[in-house]
Amino acid sequence: MAILFPAMLNDTLPKYFDPRKYAAQEVSIEGRLLLKQFPELCAALASDEGDAFVHLDFRVDEDRRYIATGSIKSTVQLECQRCLEPAPIELEVDLSIGFVYDEDHAKNLPGDYDPVVMTDGEVVLAEMVEQELLLALPIVAYHAESGCNPVALKYASSTDDAPDDENKPNPFSILASLKAKKN
Ligand SMILES: [Zn+2]
Repeated sequence: MAILFPAMLNDTLPKYFDPRKYAAQEVSIEGRLLLKQFPELCAALASDEGDAFVHLDFRVDEDRRYIATGSIKSTVQLECQRCLEPAPIELEVDLSIGFVYDEDHAKNLPGDYDPVVMTDGEVVLAEMVEQELLLALPIVAYHAESGCNPVALKYASSTDDAPDDENKPNPFSILASLKAKKN
C-alpha cells in the first residue's frame, strides 16, 4: 500500500483546471509535483531533486469570487552562502488566491487575496505553483547552526582570507585587465 500512496495522490492533481467549476463544486485537490518540472525555479536551486506538496480548497466567496485557499510545502536545495554546499530549505506557502479574468479585474480584489489570472477560463497548476515557490525563496540561504560541511567551509573561508595567494589569480586584477582590453 505504501508504494501506491504517492501515485494515488498524484492522480488528484490536474494539469490545468477551471477555477469557476472547481469553486462552484467546492472541490479539494492535493498531491505532489516534482521540482524538475519547474525550469525557472530549478535555475535558482542547487538541485532539482525533490517535490512540492500542494493542497487547495476551492469555493465561491460571499461576493461571488472564485477562491482557493491552501498551502504548498517543499524542501528545496539552495547554495549555502557560508560553505557553498547545497543546504535544505523548507518552504511553506499559505495560499489565499482569487481567480480573475485580467489585470483590471485583479485590482478589484481585496488585499488578502493573491490574484491569479485565468487564460481562456483555465489555470495551469504547475505554472501557478512555480510562481508561488519563486516568491517564497529566500534571497540568501545558510545551513542551520553548525550544519555546514566542515571541509567545504574551510576551503571557502581560506580562499576568502587569502585573496593575494600567488597560485590563484586575483579577481580584481582579472577585472582590471578586462577593462584595459576594452579601452
Ligand atoms: Zn553551509
